[in-house]
Amino acid sequence: MSGFLPDQPGAEVRVSPNFGPRRDTLRPDMIVLHYTGMATGASAEAWLCDPASEVSSHYLVHEDGRIVQMVRESDRAWHAGKSSWFGRVDINSCSVGIEIVNPGHSLGYKAFPKRQIDAVIGLCEGVAGRHSIPPQRVLAHSDVAPGRKVDPGEKFPWKALFAAGVGHLVAATPISHGAALRAGDTGADVEALQSMLALYGYSVEISGAFDRQTEIVVAAFQLHFRRRLVDGVADGSTIRTLQRLLASVKTASPK
Ligand SMILES: [Zn+2]
Repeated sequence: MSGFLPDQPGAEVRVSPNFGPRRDTLRPDMIVLHYTGMATGASAEAWLCDPASEVSSHYLVHEDGRIVQMVRESDRAWHAGKSSWFGRVDINSCSVGIEIVNPGHSLGYKAFPKRQIDAVIGLCEGVAGRHSIPPQRVLAHSDVAPGRKVDPGEKFPWKALFAAGVGHLVAATPISHGAALRAGDTGADVEALQSMLALYGYSVEISGAFDRQTEIVVAAFQLHFRRRLVDGVADGSTIRTLQRLLASVKTASPK
């Protein structure tokens, strides 16, 4: 394919060969946000278009706010890898992937410039509008691949997105001393915690045992929704924030 018209008005087009058809006639019903984790935006753009990389995303958002579309929204880009949400594992077939230029944790993680975030907001509005994607399905790569991925990370300003009407958030309940659930705990309270995480969409086995995967998912939840302390311990603030988040989901998840 030599080119296509961008789905997002104003986006530049640079075609990546790394895509295929969405499987099982799935349509996009979620947005997954990433950081590029490479030294420069130019190197990330080249990598995502290099057949040898076997990775891509629908969009790349540069630090100056330029948006590059590489894969049509109707096609399946290769950005999520081994992931799951609401039990679905082929996230690439049901999502639009947006890579946001940032060196990431291994190359000098830094704040996302405002003009870049403004562009991400406008892009998410466009994608969500075209595909009727509800706010709670605008997610981090770390949400759908807990323990394996941490992007876009703790500096990503979910608050700014939410203030603009993009994504789903509640103000985190303040941290206070008190009982907490942690690795090694078992019982009905752990089962309730796991059930709530799964009800939001996280991939966690409801076993009643606070095992390693539960700890990893709690940390992923905290990285997005209760960022003051990301430690994998389900303290009162974490649990209360999760309860309030669930209570504020406006529409049922479509899948
Ligand atoms: Zn990612």
